[in-house]
Amino acid sequence: VSFSTVLRDLRQAGSVTIISHVRPDGDAYGSMLGLGLSLELAGKRIHLVNQDGMIPMYAFLPESHRVQRSTPQAPEADLLIAVDTSTFERLGPDCVSWNRPVDLNLDHHASNTLYGRTNLVDAEHPSTASLLWQLIREGGLPVDARVASALYTGVSTDTGSFRYRGTTAATFRAAAEMVDAGADPAELARHCYQSTSPQRFQLARLAMQSMQIEMDGALAHLAVTREMFEHSGAAPEDTEGLVEKLLEISTVRVGALFESMPDGKLRVSLRSKKDLDVGKVAGEFGGGGHRLAAGIRISGDPAAGRSRVIDRLKTLIQTGT
Ligand code: 5GP
Ligand code: MN
Repeated sequence: VSFSTVLRDLRQAGSVTIISHVRPDGDAYGSMLGLGLSLELAGKRIHLVNQDGMIPMYAFLPESHRVQRSTPQAPEADLLIAVDTSTFERLGPDCVSWNRPVDLNLDHHASNTLYGRTNLVDAEHPSTASLLWQLIREGGLPVDARVASALYTGVSTDTGSFRYRGTTAATFRAAAEMVDAGADPAELARHCYQSTSPQRFQLARLAMQSMQIEMDGALAHLAVTREMFEHSGAAPEDTEGLVEKLLEISTVRVGALFESMPDGKLRVSLRSKKDLDVGKVAGEFGGGGHRLAAGIRISGDPAAGRSRVIDRLKTLIQTGT
């Protein structure tokens, strides 16, 4: 739908609850806080909740303590707004159990299932945060340094520091406006890219030792086991960014990460450097995402799931589809 429909809903609401996906990343938190704080400046009561609450890595974000852990009790608000979340299920078991429809679904994933009553989904945007910045500016919603810093963090992390495809002149213009509004690029980069915990770095070291490289160097994959978490003392979110490391290898076209989850499921992260569509592959396994970044959750025997995905990725590299 158009911005004006969304802006009308936002203007009419006295209170909003903003939610986002499980295992939130910089774009999820930045979008929740950026939109939330802007709406609060506009006089609305805001409630920010997530299945995973706030994680230490993003506690530097302005007003990060405002992101509360969700509960099975549905929050009361005029509007329930989901940001950066491609499917209803990815909002997590609490949100799903509320039995309340999502009023506004604001996202940039092409695979978004349009589960909201109103859906603003623009896959041209490299981040939800940049979409929200455009919405806020066009709607004349209030902005301050906190709003700008939160949204800048979302754009920076989802674009890999303005490196990934999807980063356009408009992205830089939006980022420049955010800096004008008070976002500090060096300070935020230090928090996002130079604040790794020793435990996280140890996990990366162990994971890198598992690396296998196949197909004349075109396919590289990592396995993260529960033992690696135990030995390193790393947190669940500490695998974020690992799979991207594989794309630093010149020959690699597709990178994959296979993470054993505590519930026995296999979490698969897929990344493509350029032309190969890993989003399509993820879709075939019941996952989703974008062309160059996608994910899957596989139940059943993890080893079997892993080799099925690897076989499929080999075909992708061989045939291009
Ligand atoms: P990541 O590998 O960082 O977890 O996810 C990469 C992209 O794939 C994200 O944009 C995310 O939306 C999508 N994604 C990851 N896991 C899943 C999944 O289990 N299901 C779906 N539908 N999308 C996923
Ligand atoms: Mn995003």
